[in-house]
Amino acid sequence: MRRRALTLVGMTVVVAAAVAGSTSPMASTAHAAQAAKALPVAVAIRTPSATTRTPEPTAGDSPTLPLDVTYDLRPTPDALATASPRPLPDCGYEDVPAWLGGPDDWALTLVDTVYALPDSYEPPDLVNASQAGFATGFDVRALLIPDLTAMAAAAADAGAPLGIASGYRSYWTQYSTFNYWVYGEGYDTAILDSARPGHSEHQLGLAIDFMDLYGQAPWLYADFATESAAGIWLAAHAAQYGFVMSYPAGRQAVTCYTYEPWHYRYVGRQAARAILASGLTLREWLWQRQPVPGPAAAAPTLRWTAP
Ligand SMILES: [Zn+2]
Repeated sequence: MRRRALTLVGMTVVVAAAVAGSTSPMASTAHAAQAAKALPVAVAIRTPSATTRTPEPTAGDSPTLPLDVTYDLRPTPDALATASPRPLPDCGYEDVPAWLGGPDDWALTLVDTVYALPDSYEPPDLVNASQAGFATGFDVRALLIPDLTAMAAAAADAGAPLGIASGYRSYWTQYSTFNYWVYGEGYDTAILDSARPGHSEHQLGLAIDFMDLYGQAPWLYADFATESAAGIWLAAHAAQYGFVMSYPAGRQAVTCYTYEPWHYRYVGRQAARAILASGLTLREWLWQRQPVPGPAAAAPTLRWTAP
């Protein structure tokens, strides 16, 4: 298992746009910290042609790569279908290469504070979420379009139309996002609100931050899951369409992130049902199904070396 210092050299934080409704990205509101994972990308729900991705750093901004993990493309073991007794360690920060498996294993890939994607990883089938009827510049994996379409229709029929606040984010977008918050609120807080580059579910193209269609940003609610039409509907029905809330309330000790009621990971209907029935969080459930050995115990926290 590799541990390495994460060094930033000449890093330039790139912020595409502030979140709608936020007067200052650094404002110390009660919810500013919760916006960490998605804040430096724009919310765009009415402009189908809008591009909302943060530009990748130019050559002059090139930082030292914090990760150089490589894919693990071992065939899917039969044991993947069943849980292993491998216990979930306390929250720690490692750079264990995430297991991607074959084309049909996407639902079982775990990306968390331990398992990481390489900077070169981009989902093979990114499409714009407009294919599911959303007016947004965000991309998602094509494989989730049918369920996302059905879910959006059902939510709209129930009077809770959905918008998308964030979808696929590249390694470098996440790099900017995370460092923005490290410099803004300090590492110790940022690490609970935002993922290190390579460690974001958004890089999988399978995570979506939802919002009320035409509503305010979800992190501006005290609790999106109980105060907004979309959030309430999603909390009750998203799993039926294959989407699981990755970081539910009161589970920070095992998810390693603060509560994010707007952030859902797509795992497909079958896995979502199983996760719901298990009573486990997504991370706990997936942890038991990773063929790549993880740490037996929590690792020391990696520290960024300020330039
Ligand atoms: Zn998110």
